[in-house]
Order: sequence, then C-alpha cells, then structure tokens
Amino acid sequence: MSNVVDAILCRVHELCRDDTTGQVADYIPELAAVTPDGFGIALTTADGYVYEVGDTRLPFTIQSISKPFTYALALADRGLDAVANKIDIEPSGEPFNEISLDPITERPRNPMINAGAITSASLIAGRSPQDRFERIRASYSRYAGRSLTFNDAVYRSEARTGNRNRAIGYMLRSFDIIEHDPDAAVDLYFRQCSIDVTAADLAMMAATMANNGVNPRTRERALAPALVERVLSVMTTCGMYDGAGDWVAQVGMPAKSGVGGGILAVLPGQMGIAVYSPRLDSHGNSVRGVAACRELSSRLELHFLHVT
Ligand code: GLN
Repeated sequence: MSNVVDAILCRVHELCRDDTTGQVADYIPELAAVTPDGFGIALTTADGYVYEVGDTRLPFTIQSISKPFTYALALADRGLDAVANKIDIEPSGEPFNEISLDPITERPRNPMINAGAITSASLIAGRSPQDRFERIRASYSRYAGRSLTFNDAVYRSEARTGNRNRAIGYMLRSFDIIEHDPDAAVDLYFRQCSIDVTAADLAMMAATMANNGVNPRTRERALAPALVERVLSVMTTCGMYDGAGDWVAQVGMPAKSGVGGGILAVLPGQMGIAVYSPRLDSHGNSVRGVAACRELSSRLELHFLHVT
C-alpha cells in the first residue's frame, strides 16, 4: 500500500505544480511576503502513518482552519445546546467575511464564517484572555501531537487592520450573541488565526479527527466522539465557504481552508489530508490545494459517497 500512496502523492504534486493561477492573500504584508510557489501535500492515516511530498514542513499561519478546532473546544466547554443557541449550522453560500446574521434566527449562519468563528471564540472558557488563548493553543497542539507556536508578526498585522472583523464583533454584541466584550472575542480570534502550522501538522490534526478524536501518534484524546461528528458535519456543508457545493461534489470530504494557503480534509475512519499552497482562488481557497484534493480523491477513491 505505502508505495502506491507515495507514488500517487508524487504524481498529484507533479500534476498540480505548474498551476500558478490565483493570488497570495495580501490584506496584510506578512501574508503577501510568503514564497508563492511553496507546495506540499501530506496524508496521515487514522493509525498514524505519514506520507508526504514537497513543502510539508514549511510553517504558515493556520488562519480559518482554526475555526473547526475552536468550535470544537466551545462545544466541549459549553455543550451542544448552549453553542447551538448562539451559532447555527446552515451553509451560508456567502463569503467568509460577510457581515451578516440569519434574519430569522438572528444567529451567525455557521461556525466556519467569521461571524460564527468569532462567536465560538467568545464561548471559550478561561480565567483570563491569556488563559483562554493558551487553552486554544494547547487544544490545537493535542490534535497536532506537538506544541504549536504563535506568530506574533501576523497577529499584530491582523489586529492593526482587522476592522471588518471588529465590525462583525460589534454586530454580534448588539444582538447579544456575544455577551461580553466584543474586542476580546475578536482579539482571541486574531490570535487563533496566527498559530503556525505545517502541512504535516494539519494532516495529523485531520488524522486525529479521522481517528474519532484521538491523536494516532500520542494516543491523547483531543475531542469526544459525539463532538467529532458535529464538527465534521459542519465542515462538510460549510468548510469551503461559497465553494462548498463544488467541493462536496468533486472531492467529497469534510474540509476546511484558510487564507494562509492550507487546506485540511478528513476521511472518517481512514485518513487526514493536508495541502499547503498559498495562491488562492476567489473564495479564498488554495488553488493547488483544491486541485490536489480533487486528484487525490479520485485516484484514491476517497469521496465519501463513492461505492466500490
Ligand atoms: N484571519 C482571516 C480573517 O479573518 C482568516 C480568514 C480565512 O482564512 N479565510 O479575515
């Protein structure tokens, strides 16, 4: 099996490498400064075996791939019902940074758009802002199986320029979705987006989800099984924003993308996949990341609706 997977990974990397379409995120100088050609693919099985090709050890910020993990921590801290009272689980069909709530429920439509993600951050338990961030960092680290670090330069830039996210935070406060200081929730969100990961880390984080919440290498539990199911459900319908329908049709795995250039996908019970390539399409999803996942899904028959 291993030689076959290695060969397919190399082939997919080769096939997608020459696609230089898309634009690196440039809303802050730190993201615009990355090497646009970086490209790595990692696949980790649910029992912890790692396959990788290309730039899988290059650090980049997790950005929106943080959203399912903070949502998961909010679910663990507050319970399914309390979180559901604040954040819906319907796909929005809107861009990730849309300033909107569902007009009927007056809740963010889902935890994968910024409004929902900032609400998840506001629900994280902790004695102080530092403690809440440390709980988030430690939680992501359990999925990754190593201690993840914080990128201060990206955080500072994000905090300096993040007025749209602040607007979302204040909107959430005015509807009592956020019950405390909206600036604190937005700041925590900026911090979680600024955690550095590699494609290899993301594949292990995805493999932990695929392994029902237990890191296959460290054997540490990162999330309860019932919550894994909820988080993967939301990733399936909402993880790729307004590109979610195409993604489910063509790749067929719960997934999450980030403007740092990462994509993480989970095949429950089987494996986690991650791709890093920083050029993005108009939805903010990695161009080569989407293409590579599509190729891997078809060559390894990973679509969750595929019948053999
Ligand atoms: N920090 C970014 C933002 O909130 C993350 C967005 C993303 O990765 N889609 O704008």
